[in-house]
Amino acid sequence: MVDPVELTQRLIRYDTVNPPGREGDCAALLAGLLSDAGFATRLVPLGDGRASVVARLGKAGARKPLAFTGHIDVVPLGTRAWSFEPFCGELDGDRVLGRGASDMKSGVAAFVAAAIGMAASAGNRTEIVLLITAGEETGCDGAESIVRAGLQGEAGALVVCEPTANVPFVGHKGALWLKAVLKGITAHGSMPERGDNAVYKAARAVNRLACFHFGVDGHPVLGAPTINVGSLHGGLNINSVPDRAEIEIDLRTIPGIAHAELRERIRAQMAEDADLETIIDLPGIWTAPESPWAARVAEITTKVTGEPRAVKTATYFSDASVLVPAMGGPPTLILGPGEPGLAHQTDEWCGAERIRQSTQIYRDIIADWARGA
Ligand SMILES: [Zn+2]
Repeated sequence: MVDPVELTQRLIRYDTVNPPGREGDCAALLAGLLSDAGFATRLVPLGDGRASVVARLGKAGARKPLAFTGHIDVVPLGTRAWSFEPFCGELDGDRVLGRGASDMKSGVAAFVAAAIGMAASAGNRTEIVLLITAGEETGCDGAESIVRAGLQGEAGALVVCEPTANVPFVGHKGALWLKAVLKGITAHGSMPERGDNAVYKAARAVNRLACFHFGVDGHPVLGAPTINVGSLHGGLNINSVPDRAEIEIDLRTIPGIAHAELRERIRAQMAEDADLETIIDLPGIWTAPESPWAARVAEITTKVTGEPRAVKTATYFSDASVLVPAMGGPPTLILGPGEPGLAHQTDEWCGAERIRQSTQIYRDIIADWARGA
């Protein structure tokens, strides 16, 4: 048996701050535990000292495999001082302390513990697939490398164990991040008439973007799509006409908005000659809460936590954007022990009781899946 709280503590002690990542040792530990429990395990490299893990158990039954996913990289510590050592992984009362406690080494530990615990009873009736990714926080790089290697396969259902405080979330918005580069001609700052000022072009483009309308109704649960210009850089020094400026645009979308079309609308809205580069392009996720599997998971979750059912969605995006289309579009729920409000925060922690609860929830989800197989 693997204790999910102890495993969370162990995982936190690996410094997997991304960038640079360095998830390799943490991935190797998990791969070792899963191999020992009978899983067929593959490490999928992602550059120097970095790796994701794909682990499979059991044989395909009437149903496609049940998949769980989580990432083992964490975000940087930030500039504020922490009141404890960020990689200590210590228990303080009910709290497991450290970077990644909520987002989301607790979630990984819980599904690994659940899958190992259920291996003997469920493994001969259904197939379980675990996708433990590196490089999620910088844009799902690990999930993409798994998909490029063709190791994800199809899934009948997917649980994304990101922080939701053990409430099943039925989706999240998509994200389209664009960089626009505007070019001009440099000249001495005392003779601006000889140049062509790229910062002026960027400023005009940004003002037009501030007035962008998506022209769609908001989704009843996910809400309205959004646009935010997150950065504007241009010019090298005060006394030159800048010949280059860059704008970064963060678009969050809902089902029904085609990203390729949106990109062209953004280009038109800027009404300036700009090179448009896509930084990330991740579709949104949506599973109808009344669909059969989502309803059963909600029932299982309520039974374990005692909390009433609620239809909620995540504000963040996840590896599901990459994995869901690649796995044949399975129903997908985001469900994990971390506190969503503590993700990326100073003094991050996760409740030990929540980790135990989510392990029980995942065990019950596996048992339910095996029953239907
Ligand atoms: Zn996360």
